[in-house]
Amino acid sequence: MSDETPICSAKGCRVDAVWVLAWNNPKLHTPQRRKTWLACEEHREHLSQFLGVRGFLKDVVPLKEWESPEGA
Ligand SMILES: [Zn+2]
Repeated sequence: MSDETPICSAKGCRVDAVWVLAWNNPKLHTPQRRKTWLACEEHREHLSQFLGVRGFLKDVVPLKEWESPEGA
C-alpha cells in the first residue's frame, strides 16, 4: 500500500488520476521527449483538448497501463 496516489493535474482537482496524457511541445522539447499530465475521468477531456488544440498531445493512456513495466 502507498499513500502516493497520483492526483489529477487539473487546477484545483484532488481526485485520483486514472489517465496519463503524454505530450510534447516541439518548440521546447526534442521529438522523443514526453511530458506527462495526469487526469481523472472528469478532466481527461478538458486536458486533452487543451493539449490537442496546440498540437501537443501525443498519447492518452490508462494510468495502470502507463505504470506497468514493459521489461524494466
Ligand atoms: Zn480532475
